[in-house]
Amino acid sequence: MADSNFLTEHNARHVWHPMAHPAEMRANPPTIISAGEGAEIIDVDGKRLLDGVGGLWNVNLGYSCDPVKQAITTQLGELPYYSAFRGTTNGPLIELSVALAEFFAADGMVRSFFTSGGSDSVETALRLARQFHKLNGQPERTKFVSLKKGYHGTHFGGASVNGNQNFRRAYEPLLPGTIHLASPYTYRNPFNTDDPKVLADSIARQFADEIAFHGADTIAALIMEPVLGAGGVIVPHESLMPALRALCDKHGILLIADEVITAFGRTGAWSGSRLWGVKPDMMCTAKAITNGYFPFGAVMIGEKVTEVFENDRTAMGSIGHGYTYSGHPVGAAAAIVCLAETVKQDLATNAAERGIELLEGLETLKARYPLVGDVRGKGLMCALELVSNRDDKAPAAKDKVAQVYKGAYEAGVMIRTSGNNIILSPTLIISKQDVSRILEALEAGLKSAA
Ligand code: PLP
Repeated sequence: MADSNFLTEHNARHVWHPMAHPAEMRANPPTIISAGEGAEIIDVDGKRLLDGVGGLWNVNLGYSCDPVKQAITTQLGELPYYSAFRGTTNGPLIELSVALAEFFAADGMVRSFFTSGGSDSVETALRLARQFHKLNGQPERTKFVSLKKGYHGTHFGGASVNGNQNFRRAYEPLLPGTIHLASPYTYRNPFNTDDPKVLADSIARQFADEIAFHGADTIAALIMEPVLGAGGVIVPHESLMPALRALCDKHGILLIADEVITAFGRTGAWSGSRLWGVKPDMMCTAKAITNGYFPFGAVMIGEKVTEVFENDRTAMGSIGHGYTYSGHPVGAAAAIVCLAETVKQDLATNAAERGIELLEGLETLKARYPLVGDVRGKGLMCALELVSNRDDKAPAAKDKVAQVYKGAYEAGVMIRTSGNNIILSPTLIISKQDVSRILEALEAGLKSAA
């Protein structure tokens, strides 16, 4: 490979990075990652780092999952691509749909619609929700409800239900008729409560109030992450999702669980919906479905939605939506093996156990460093919220957050910063020793920023 100065220069000149200011790449060049092994990554200068980010919440099985790599290679040799539009299909995608139906049976899912990633999955679910109501004789149900601080990808539909202005403002006007409920964010919320149950009850009341205001007959679906990820790892009280499900049922509103991060074990349960004992009508998945080795996703669809489409006898039930890469045989082959490895290695149990250790360690750091205002987590998705002052909770300055990142990096752990949050979402194969490594590196970062 070319030397790192050459790459950095060309990166700044020719590449536009997602979620970044183009000008920043010259002032603050990104780290070039050149290899991955187990739970670690290696930068272009040969520095080994424990990956506290797990790629981007997706490399659950780590970087050395040979069975998945082998499945990709074998499938490339047999059938590298063919379309799954009406008229043709392929073996891996059929086999995968059976495996997924089995895996998500406890969530009430029966069918898969394949996509190329999380944003595609969200877009698909939103579209199918509208189409469902049209087929079901309620064409005026077009509005979507979501949670503030929720993240649902970058397509226009997903951006419209996103609950963070950073992903919306530059692209407005977005879809009309989106309704945002408060976030289950105990650290800051308009109800001035730090009691998660009181907050969950308030959000449920707000949903009921919005339904009454807009009219249930105008609302297509509620979309929510069972644990909010990109918004800063916000873990709702266990009663929230069931309460919102009950209101959806009462008012004929579909519930879409955006499980792009939470499916496949990250929270310590096999799905975020199962964690809270809820059966959604559709589930959006992507990311860990192929361990990040191939861009892929699946919208899982429950019986209620399936039936209405299957029983339709008009042209309206035909699905006018799909991607060139829906059901890509290479992605499907990767996902089949990925799912089998995920279950065989019981990643959910490891996520639950290591997650408890990680959260305990983060609480200890909070007790030691006033820079840490709040600590949150479920399984192996955790966040530290950095503040300059615990009394007024003013977010920590950018340079303090950057210093924590740098200190952790120098100590051998890659972490992710998002605003004033430090986000941790390591691979789900990490050991107890790896948890200690993350905590030690974070402490080094916090110390250097103190
Ligand atoms: N939904 C959620 C909950 C996500 O966390 C993400 C990505 O982080 C997406 C949707 C979008 O996925 P992608 O980046 O694969 O399009």
